[in-house]
Amino acid sequence: MFFIVPINLKRASDFHGHLCPDLVIGYRACELAEKILGRERMEKEGIVVVAYNSTSAIDAIQTLTGCTIGNRALQIIDWGKHRYLFIFETTGEGVEISFRNHDFLSSEEYNALEEKMNRYPSNPKESALYQRMIDERVKQLLSATNEDIFTYREVKMNPVKREVVTGLLRCEICGDMVLRSNTARTRGKTICYECFNKEVGMMENN
Ligand SMILES: [Zn+2]
Ligand SMILES: [Zn+2]
Repeated sequence: MFFIVPINLKRASDFHGHLCPDLVIGYRACELAEKILGRERMEKEGIVVVAYNSTSAIDAIQTLTGCTIGNRALQIIDWGKHRYLFIFETTGEGVEISFRNHDFLSSEEYNALEEKMNRYPSNPKESALYQRMIDERVKQLLSATNEDIFTYREVKMNPVKREVVTGLLRCEICGDMVLRSNTARTRGKTICYECFNKEVGMMENN
């Protein structure tokens, strides 16, 4: 199947490794955020993104907005929902974009085939059918209007500062060096979350 892929989506799919429906949803969400918030203002003031899933869409968000997990401008709350907050760092103003229910993405035939492909080795006929279904979804997502696929509302939140913590401490139980932000104080000791979880597990088993 042939269709024209916008240059920014091409960039995202080069980074991601393939072109798939989730990637296109992420791409369309960025495009809509840019339309509402204004590209110039986004670049000038800086934005932080909160994404409520950890699908292929995240790679589109990272390539297109420059907000990444590594630079702490992208936060993931993995509820498995295509919902995205694009927030100005300084003012906390922004937009929340949610993917609507859409019939062509929740077909029983597609879900059943996907489940089968995940569980068993697939045969070439099934693989070809699956790829055709994916291409069809990509095409539909690219040609739909924003209103067809998203609901959105402007929001005002407390300014979201990217947290930059680089200081390291030594865990007083295992001795590993660990980021200051990822330690807990318990019984007079500063310890890492790994040890903290073990301690909690031991307390629960007693
Ligand atoms: Zn993908
Ligand atoms: Zn530790």
